[in-house]
Amino acid sequence: MALDPRSLLFMAAIMASFMAVVLFFMRRSFPAHIRGIGLWALAPVAWVTAAALLSMRGLIPDFASIVLGNVLTVAGSVLFYLGCKRFYGQPTHQWRWGAAVLAEAVVLAWMTHVAPWPGGRMVVFTAMMLAVFGSNLHFMLRHGEPRFPARLVNCVLALQIGVLLVRLIAALTGQASNQLLDTSLIQIVYLGSYAMFVLMLSIGAVLLATDRLTRELEHLATHDALTGALNRRAILQRCADEVERCRRFGKGLAVLMLDLDHFKTVNDTGGHQHGDAVLAHFARSVGHTLRRTDHLGRYGGEEFLVLLPETDLPAALQTAQRIHDALATGHALDCHISIGASTWAGPPDNLDALLGRADQALYQAKEQGRNQTCTA
Ligand code: GH3
Ligand code: MG
Ligand code: MG
Repeated sequence: MALDPRSLLFMAAIMASFMAVVLFFMRRSFPAHIRGIGLWALAPVAWVTAAALLSMRGLIPDFASIVLGNVLTVAGSVLFYLGCKRFYGQPTHQWRWGAAVLAEAVVLAWMTHVAPWPGGRMVVFTAMMLAVFGSNLHFMLRHGEPRFPARLVNCVLALQIGVLLVRLIAALTGQASNQLLDTSLIQIVYLGSYAMFVLMLSIGAVLLATDRLTRELEHLATHDALTGALNRRAILQRCADEVERCRRFGKGLAVLMLDLDHFKTVNDTGGHQHGDAVLAHFARSVGHTLRRTDHLGRYGGEEFLVLLPETDLPAALQTAQRIHDALATGHALDCHISIGASTWAGPPDNLDALLGRADQALYQAKEQGRNQTCTA
């Protein structure tokens, strides 16, 4: 093993400082409502300072190298954990964790200057790190989404907990020295994993924030701001995909074309804002009546499209009736609507024709007096 502990700490410091810069820039450029990035950026700052202090053991006073070095390592991990909590909108309890770090500082200072006890320091430090990482992992398992960034963070935390446990057990059973700059295998693995962990946790933070932003932008690009329904492009894309599935697998498909009745009058009598509220209420009510696999999209103005995969005409008409019922509950924003229903008619049929028939049926529903469903 030619790896030198000081070099490993130096590497950790370099990685942490790069990640701190990246995270600070992200904090500035990301929307302010994505929270926690600032705390994530502070974590590597604490780690880089800690690594610098720890690697200067013997060259600077023990208080800076031992006490501050260890306390800042723990503080960095606490900051990362609090960043996760803030990112997921949970209370951070920062004072509780601040007090714990302060208490650790007092104990470590005591074990350094009053009653020197390196073994005791190591146990206190490791126990604190295990408490922070354990809490962080527990939190992430409860609140993190089952997606790659959260999984990466969880893996890194779990690995680091494993390494800390091995080091603690090895030191307690006398198989490894508790000297930080010792060149034993366990110590080198510990420091090497620390350097990787500093890098990987920060990358995890970058990925978490980027993933959140990507999904928010994706949502904005595919959803209508007023009603929360899919926008025209997104609903037509889903319809096209579903038609393709029908063509390949011979399954059925129905679409409902919905149009609010006399909506111009609603606007003229109640005002445009009231009209907006009616539209939002309409979309909410329709959304509640649909299955998870169905989709509601805003086709334009006060016209909407409902996509019902694997649905035949009788089932589509039942859904249409449920929609009429959901908008006749006595709610102040309830409205009357007309619906045109059409179903997939087999291979020569295509999306344009399907939508054309639904539109015709809608026209017929309007002609026949509105507030009803027609089929084509
Ligand atoms: P019909 O029963 O024949 O469908 O009559 P209508 O009044 O509903 O139809 P028309 O097409 O004449 O009017 C549609 C109205 O919908 C006109 C337009 O100002 C209004 N509208 C479209 N989009 C919005 C919106 O986002 N908010 C509000 N408040 N009104 C909208
Ligand atoms: Mg209308
Ligand atoms: Mg219309």
